[in-house]
Amino acid sequence: MKLTEHFTLEEFTRSTTANRLKIDNSVPADLMPNVQLTAIKLEFVRKTLGKQIIITSGYRCPALNSKVGGVSTSAHTKGLAVDFKSSFGTPKEICQRLIDTGVQFDKLIQEHNQWVHIGFSPTHNRQIVLTAIKQGGKTVYLSGLK
Ligand SMILES: [Zn+2]
Repeated sequence: MKLTEHFTLEEFTRSTTANRLKIDNSVPADLMPNVQLTAIKLEFVRKTLGKQIIITSGYRCPALNSKVGGVSTSAHTKGLAVDFKSSFGTPKEICQRLIDTGVQFDKLIQEHNQWVHIGFSPTHNRQIVLTAIKQGGKTVYLSGLK
């Protein structure tokens, strides 16, 4: 099912972990407006980068979220966040570009130099920028782009 010009619902729900554990990761009807909003916001991100976006994790039902070690309040469980990569450049380069061009987001996280997490709010986007790194085996979030 097509959500916007470049994004399908399937890209938001597919998960190798969900498949392996037979978790039904379909989006509940009440969260569909959030997923739709996220897809619309991602079109702006895609346009800004001028490159394709590969969603590595989109919507996560609570069962899947806990299996992948997500925090219970994760915006992924509300359909309001995605993790992605892009041939535009490194996660840091992607984040820098989105900040420089004034793209709206609630939270933008450069995660371990491996992917970008971007979250949106239906009401108020706070433009929070963080960098996730491993410290002593634990993930810590530093303020700003590192
Ligand atoms: Zn994420």
